[in-house]
Amino acid sequence: MEIPQATRKPADYPTRKQGFSVFTVDVEDWFHILDVASTPPMERWASLPSRVEANFYRLLDLFDEKRARTTCFFLGWIADHFPHLVKETARRGHEVACHGYAHQLVNTISRRGFRDDVGRAKKLLEDLTGSTVLGYRAPGFSLTRHIPWFFDELIAAGYAYDSSVFPAARGHGGDTTFPRLPTIWGRDSCRLIEFPVTVTELAGWPVCLFGGGYLRLFPYALIRSQARKLLKAGQPVVYYIHPREIDPVHPRLPMNPYRRFKSYYNLKSAYGKVVRILDEFRVSTFRDVLAGDKVLPWDTTLWNQTSAQAEEARFSFQIRGWIRGKGSHH
Ligand SMILES: [Zn+2]
Repeated sequence: MEIPQATRKPADYPTRKQGFSVFTVDVEDWFHILDVASTPPMERWASLPSRVEANFYRLLDLFDEKRARTTCFFLGWIADHFPHLVKETARRGHEVACHGYAHQLVNTISRRGFRDDVGRAKKLLEDLTGSTVLGYRAPGFSLTRHIPWFFDELIAAGYAYDSSVFPAARGHGGDTTFPRLPTIWGRDSCRLIEFPVTVTELAGWPVCLFGGGYLRLFPYALIRSQARKLLKAGQPVVYYIHPREIDPVHPRLPMNPYRRFKSYYNLKSAYGKVVRILDEFRVSTFRDVLAGDKVLPWDTTLWNQTSAQAEEARFSFQIRGWIRGKGSHH
C-alpha cells in the first residue's frame, strides 16, 4: 500500500484548528441508480443513451473555473467505455479514485466477487492514468455492519483509503452507529483510512446535507452554516455529487414515489449549489489530505479535542474490533 509521503505542506491545507473540505464526484450515468427494480442490467448499459460525458465535462469546466481540485470516484465500466474521461480528469489535476467496476451493492455480492470487482477497476484506472489509485467508494455507500471482510479486501487490493461509510440511516448500507470521523483500520503496513461521508445533526437526527437528496432538498444557507460549524470544530466536510444530478432533464427510471423523490427531487438546484460551495469553501482531494500532513489523520489525538470527539474515537475503536473480530484472514 502506497501512502504518499509529505514533502511540503500545501498552503491551503487546514491546520489542526480547522477541518478540511473534500469535494467528490461519483462518475456514473443516469441508469446507474441502485436498488430499484427498473435498473437495467450491465449487458444493456452500452445500448442506452449516455449522458455522462456532457454532464461530467460540465463539472470539470466548473472546477477549472473555480480552481477547485476534486476526487473523482470512477465506475470501472465508465472508464472502459469512456477512457478519455479518466485521462482528462487526471490531466486537469483531479484525483482519479475507484467506484468499483459493475456498480453492485456490496451487501449483495460475495467476498470473492467484491475482490474481483475492486481489483479489476483499480487496475483499469491505473493503466489509464499511469498512477496509483489510492481510494475506493462503494456503490450506494452500501457498507453495512454485516460485511466484516470489507476493509481487509480493500487493504489486500492496495487501497490506502476508503470513503464508503455513511454514518446515518439509508435505504441500503449506512448505520447511525458508524464512526463519523476519519478512522484508521488495521495496523502497521496493513492499514487503511476511512473518510466517512459527513453527517450533521438536525433536530437530533443525523443527516447528510453534503450530497444526495438532502443537498438538493435543503436551502444552501443551511448547508453553508452546517459546513462552517463542522470546519470550525476541526472536522472534515466531504461533499459528493453524481454527474446526472446537474442534468435536470435526464431520462428517468421508473420507481416508487419515495425513491423517485430521493433520486430526482429538485435536480435543478444542484448545479447552483455546487457553484456556491466552490465559491465559498476551499476544497481539496483525499490524496492531498493524505499527502499534505503526516499528522492527520494518523494521529487520532487530533480528534480528541472534546469529550464528544473522544467518545467518537473510543467508539470507532470498538467498531474496528467488531469488524476485525468477525473477519477471517486472507
Ligand atoms: Zn454509484
